[in-house]
Amino acid sequence: MTDGARTATRTGSRPVEAATHCPYCALQCGMVLRATGGGVEVAARDFPTNRGGLCQKGWTAGDLLDHPDRLTTPLLRDRPGGELRPATWDEALGRVAARVQDVQHRHGPDAVALFGGGGLTNEKAYALGRFARVTLRTRHIDYNGRWCMSSAAAAGNRAFGIDRGLPFPLADLGRADTLLLVGANPAETMPPLMRHVADLRERGGRLIVVDPRATATARQADLHLQPLPGTDLAVANALLHIALTEGWLDRAYVAERTTGFDEVRRTVAGYWPAEVERLSGVPVADLYATARALATVDRAVVLTARGAEQHAKGVDTVTAFINLALALGLPGRPGSGYGCLTGQGNGQGGREHGQKADQLPGYRRIDDPAAREHVAGVWGVDPDTLPGPGVPAYQLLDALGTPSGARALLVFGSNPVVSAPRAARVESRLRALDLLVVADFVRSETAELADVVLPVAQWAEEDGTMTNLEGRVLRRRALREPPAGVRTELEILAALAERLSSGGGTPLPADPREVFAELGRASSGGPADYAGITWDRIDADTGVFWPCPDRDGPDTPRLFTDRFPTPDGRARFHAVTHRPAAEPVCADYPLHFTTGRVLAQYQSGAQTRRVAALRRAAPGGFVELHPDLAARIGVTEGAPVRVVSRRGELRAPARLSTAIRPDTVFAPFHWPGAQRANSVTNDALDPVSGMPEFKICAVRVEPA
Ligand code: SF4
Repeated sequence: MTDGARTATRTGSRPVEAATHCPYCALQCGMVLRATGGGVEVAARDFPTNRGGLCQKGWTAGDLLDHPDRLTTPLLRDRPGGELRPATWDEALGRVAARVQDVQHRHGPDAVALFGGGGLTNEKAYALGRFARVTLRTRHIDYNGRWCMSSAAAAGNRAFGIDRGLPFPLADLGRADTLLLVGANPAETMPPLMRHVADLRERGGRLIVVDPRATATARQADLHLQPLPGTDLAVANALLHIALTEGWLDRAYVAERTTGFDEVRRTVAGYWPAEVERLSGVPVADLYATARALATVDRAVVLTARGAEQHAKGVDTVTAFINLALALGLPGRPGSGYGCLTGQGNGQGGREHGQKADQLPGYRRIDDPAAREHVAGVWGVDPDTLPGPGVPAYQLLDALGTPSGARALLVFGSNPVVSAPRAARVESRLRALDLLVVADFVRSETAELADVVLPVAQWAEEDGTMTNLEGRVLRRRALREPPAGVRTELEILAALAERLSSGGGTPLPADPREVFAELGRASSGGPADYAGITWDRIDADTGVFWPCPDRDGPDTPRLFTDRFPTPDGRARFHAVTHRPAAEPVCADYPLHFTTGRVLAQYQSGAQTRRVAALRRAAPGGFVELHPDLAARIGVTEGAPVRVVSRRGELRAPARLSTAIRPDTVFAPFHWPGAQRANSVTNDALDPVSGMPEFKICAVRVEPA
């Protein structure tokens, strides 16, 4: 059966069954939705990524469709401090259009900004970028993926000339002899992925995990390296140092397929394992065991995720692991390579189609004259009318309501009041706006601050495409129509474009299939080339891997087999050096604070906190700390504690665990209010990617 065959199961014009994918993370597990008398039933289906598995979030995803919190009418706030009240669509869209025009008339085009999300479909991400550049002519657009994947994306682009999270199918993990996971906890964040790790283990392969916490994944590992947060880069350089001194490099690969190794060789020569042990706490013996396990097998895979990336040196940290993989000759060989585990549902596609500040569709740069000319041609506008690059997400939000920032913000698919670093600051900037518009299907914490809330469809009510963590383009398929009073984001953008109609160009379509076709034309010739992908082609198989430039040509499940997409076809080494966290510990703030996720919640929790089964499984935030630390500060299991940084505090019950280092405390970031972990986090940014340093800051912990 093809991937699309099941969509044919219909009664009259309405399907009773739809083969689609989970609305949450980037694994995009295959699932079947069935209409039942009282709602929607979710069943797992066999797909190459999840192979019949789902996690608890996927099983319960249908519970939100008819949730009492579901918004089914636009809401308007008539005066600052007033209540949100129901309104018609005509009134709400009219209010948005009039206020946008007024703000731009008074302050210029850049006074209106857009903020998107890594969970939006490819079609929506593309339409948002086009709406910003053509309709609003603002340079200010960015999205929450800047906080998830941007450091790995920047590192991949500069090393390989392209950014596709996994440049190989996920099944390659099962063929590896050694898998090194750095700052990744898939056993908790995407459990079905562990089926591929189980394949590796059954074949006698080894799993090595680098994580400051003994996570569910680390507990399954053959070897767990538990470095001090923020020292991963030094660990990677030490591993390469060992490979170099032991003669384990793939010299032919380095000579024939890469450039720039000599400077890296000189740099890592100074990363003596004993010194890196002193810095990171990882024993020299474990460093040697890891290097040997990677270098002396036929096939090895190195994967990084948020733990390595969410630092003010995230790009360099990822680069250090890419250097290691290149020196061992891993990228481009089946069952071997380097990859990044993308997190959000469309974290991959969301960063390809133009909702990033510096980007046009097809992963083109907005400051590239040839790219501007091509995309402007598709949009039917003069390339000179397209704005230039904007600023990354945190800088965009941080400047809101200030003389240098936007005065109006339209938010789609994001909840920055909970998910942004230094969230209290971001919340204050949102309150300073002349106009805040939020499109969502519940009253998220960000929607609660809005002047206009626009109710949108959920995943089971819309068609479109997503691109999973492998770069595989998938079909999202609707089971049912949205409730009366609800519209899709594409319909909202098309309606606003028509009302504003300032930018000229061809009309912005509201039909997702039309948008996808236009996206394909706009991406043609770019690094992320979708020109050869159609919905029918996706339906006829288990998705299509980009780049896929021709309708009649092949797609690309595995990249880098012969060459890298750089001008000379070679991958590029970059020498990188360790530097301390942006905020070192001190007498007043003597502990390291790090954040992460739990299995039963997703991102800011606006969706999963409303699902009863998930709420029972993970009812609230907590602060994980080592029993020795707890004893020192007089805290017992379950007692309320305060975690205080220079930016704010969170209060939550203590959870005592030997899984964490005594010098580090951890909190998940899914909860708002007093339990908001991002009240504490640091807004120091990576200078290349704009990624905030979510994973480490200095705090003190005390009984609350
Ligand atoms: S949340 Fe991720 S791992 Fe869980 S079912 Fe959905 S796609 Fe699969």
